[in-house]
Amino acid sequence: MNMDPQHWCLPVYDGRVHPTVKFHYFATEKSLCGRHQHDIDFYETSMQDCEISFSSDEVCKQCLKRFLNLEKSLP
Ligand SMILES: [Zn+2]
Repeated sequence: MNMDPQHWCLPVYDGRVHPTVKFHYFATEKSLCGRHQHDIDFYETSMQDCEISFSSDEVCKQCLKRFLNLEKSLP
């Protein structure tokens, strides 16, 4: 499965990455779980940018669940 490492990002608050949060899935400026929002074109905080390989322990459970449901609904 393609986990899109460029879309799993650490959310940014007030111009800074929160150090304790997990990666959330940003297909748009809003995370899939709806809890976070930042300018994905401006901040480079994705797993790809951080050179972190995908792990379900590193990501928001809500985003992961919704992402997997999205994948399932694709033809
Ligand atoms: Zn999330």
